[in-house]
Amino acid sequence: MEQQPTYNQLLNETQELRWQLEEANDAIEAIRTGQVDALIVKNNEGPQLYTLKSADQTYRLFIEKMTEGAVTLNTEGIILYSNSRFAVLVGQPLERMVGVHFTNFVAEISKDKFAKIIKSAWDSDCKTELYITDKTQTPIPCLLSCNAMEFDGGTALSLIITDLTIQKETQLQLELQFDQLEVAQKLTQKLNDELEETVRERTKDLTISREYLKLLTDNIPQMTWTNLPGGEVTFCNQRWYDYTGLDFDTAKEKGWWQAIIHPDDLQQTIDRYHEALKTGQVFEIENRYKKADGSCRWHLTRGIPLKNELGEILFWVGTATDIEEQKQQMDKKDEFIGIASHELKTPLTSLKGYIQIMGVYKSEELPPVIKQYIVKANQAINKLHNLVNDLLDVSKIQAGRLNYTMINFDLADMIDAAIENVRQIYPGHQFVGEIAPKLMVNGNSERLEQVLMNLVSNAAKYSKENTEILIRAYNYDGGARVSVTDVGIGLSQEQMEKIFERFYRVEDKQFLTSGLGMGLYISSEIINTHNGKIGVESELGKGSTFYFELPAV
Ligand code: ADP
Repeated sequence: MEQQPTYNQLLNETQELRWQLEEANDAIEAIRTGQVDALIVKNNEGPQLYTLKSADQTYRLFIEKMTEGAVTLNTEGIILYSNSRFAVLVGQPLERMVGVHFTNFVAEISKDKFAKIIKSAWDSDCKTELYITDKTQTPIPCLLSCNAMEFDGGTALSLIITDLTIQKETQLQLELQFDQLEVAQKLTQKLNDELEETVRERTKDLTISREYLKLLTDNIPQMTWTNLPGGEVTFCNQRWYDYTGLDFDTAKEKGWWQAIIHPDDLQQTIDRYHEALKTGQVFEIENRYKKADGSCRWHLTRGIPLKNELGEILFWVGTATDIEEQKQQMDKKDEFIGIASHELKTPLTSLKGYIQIMGVYKSEELPPVIKQYIVKANQAINKLHNLVNDLLDVSKIQAGRLNYTMINFDLADMIDAAIENVRQIYPGHQFVGEIAPKLMVNGNSERLEQVLMNLVSNAAKYSKENTEILIRAYNYDGGARVSVTDVGIGLSQEQMEKIFERFYRVEDKQFLTSGLGMGLYISSEIINTHNGKIGVESELGKGSTFYFELPAV
């Protein structure tokens, strides 16, 4: 039976072990600080002597300061020396490193790899990446390089351990960024491809629409062109070249109107064109264009601005439509009206005379029914007389022969008399006059009365019975202004723009009235020859105010 050690024996053994530990610590400290160049390590084969070949101070300090871990192993893989960096890496106190088997610091996943590499490392230098582990068992990626070293008394393996954590993280980040970059690049490429496709499609569409436009513009009977807001011409259709016999370079010149517009229409055309370029409003004018053979034809010229969403003019589209035939027909019609009204005037005057003679017979001499017929015939003849007079006026205006004498007279007197007159003619309406006294103007009293009567009868014709018609006359800008306001059917903006044209009438199915659309045309000509202004303010369904202004005497 084995004898139990005594208390004193155990005490001695503990004391012995403590001395050995102190010795070992002293030895390590001595190696680190360069106080010893060799040490004896006991193993299974008994004590062995290990010496450091270049055991100088500088060398050791260099190893201590290295940012890599440096370890020396004996043939059994036991650590003979470790620098502080490696101890820090594996999270162990430096004094506990010596004598520990290196595999303790190799991560589980790298143990096989380490076993293989360590075998071959004694024969030749080698390097590998593997995972070291610290006391928390966290695997740390490292580069391990192994070099076998000859000692005076044997061999040892030096290991240099480089921590790859930062490199690996950086690499990971780089890979991640590279992946993101690749995705972004693919996306950009896709967008680019789509964009290229769209541009290709659009270019195709543009080419097609340009061809369409050319085909269309070259085959319409009108001349057409486009010009920039500054006036520079950018395009003319084939008809323009064929008609004018000019080339594009001439068209591009600023003064191309001179080359093709009839001299009598030129100034007005240029003025309207410049006005339109300035205001951005659609412009329209009837003018004559010279053909390549020198002859002229009437055209209706229109310029329309094309604007962007900000309302800025991008370019103008101009068209000139041949209206020569219409003009000739209009001339023929005017000629016919002139002749017919003239021819009607003579028998009408005789007829009026005979009826007047019949009217002076005493009541006893004629049966009462005949007397009534004479009154009715007189009214009809007066209407006919007015109509023929209007027709004659129109043809006179056309021929530029609407002449009359002008004198200074009091407009207020004329208007007062006219109001009395219309009260007899339109007894169903209430006429209210606001006439300022003494409104001296220079003009033809009969013609101005004709204008006023036309405005007042229109007001009565285009409003319901029992409604009010207000006639005002007052001093205005040194001259006079006369206005006639009704609460009748009113006019739209489009109608207002055309109302002073010859033979223009509004088609109102609910408010059918007789007329030929001459009254306002004649009125505007009369006011124009008085150097005045005629106009209308109106709202559809609410009523209208027609007015004319005459300049100061
Ligand atoms: P008309 O003989 O047809 O009355 P006008 O030249 O005097 O000829 O008038 C032209 C057109 O203007 C008329 O047909 C009518 O449609 C419109 N018009 C004139 N005066 C008025 C008004 N006070 N209210 C509404 N429409 C009017």
